Amino acid sequence: MIDFHCHIGNLQREGYPERPPFSVHQCVDWMNREGIERAVLLPLESPEGGWGWFLTEEAIAARDLYPDRFIAFMCIDVRYPAVEKLFDIFYHRYGCRGFGEHIPGLPFDHELCKVVYRKCDEYGLPMVMDLCTILTDEPGLPRLEACLKEFPNCQFVGHGPYFWANISGPDSDLEGYPSGPVTPGGAVDRLMSEYPNLYADLSAGSGYNAMTRDPEFTQGFLERHWDRLMFGTDICWHNMPIPQFDWFANLEVPVEWKKAIASGTAKKLLGL
Ligand SMILES: [Zn+2]
Repeated sequence: MIDFHCHIGNLQREGYPERPPFSVHQCVDWMNREGIERAVLLPLESPEGGWGWFLTEEAIAARDLYPDRFIAFMCIDVRYPAVEKLFDIFYHRYGCRGFGEHIPGLPFDHELCKVVYRKCDEYGLPMVMDLCTILTDEPGLPRLEACLKEFPNCQFVGHGPYFWANISGPDSDLEGYPSGPVTPGGAVDRLMSEYPNLYADLSAGSGYNAMTRDPEFTQGFLERHWDRLMFGTDICWHNMPIPQFDWFANLEVPVEWKKAIASGTAKKLLGL
């Protein structure tokens, strides 16, 4: 199994001492216990994304310690003055295979964000976003759709409360972690059908909520998009509960879909 959404480092700074920094060794131990062969390490460098940090350099160092277990992505806050230059250094010199977790306090289609999407587009890289009240869009995700169109070779990976709330139609509750039946016309479903460069990871409370709030809808959603969905946890601290493990183990779908979600699609996207 591949965890497409994994964090180590000091992202839970405000939770100290109950949640001390999560070390790479603890993470590998956790992966061994849970049956995760490899994990995509997503650094997070935007100040609004949390009180703590997980730097790209730390992801690279962790990957170099356990090269068979980790794939390092890069994260650069898009307001940094030399984003493109740094992007190229992380890509060419350090072998970072994607971008994220992208969560600057900006509208999703802001010109500064597009600098990063353009670089991902140039190299055909995956870009993991956290659409929420920080990195923003509108009902129906028009800002995301504009970028899917403008950067067809950037492989956008959807994640976050606002992304997943839009699995339901524009007239439904799109704030936080809405529960209950999904109303038709959701943007996530439509955009995944129309744009081959949109993927999603199933990590965090938001992904879990989207997959469990309306089991009947989920069955159809998986049928339509099983080859574009990837298992993920969003682990941030030692012993963080991950309900996805039980949900996925008990998911009754064809073996082909399950394999794709567990690792097949991630391998394809990462060129493994
Ligand atoms: Zn995350």
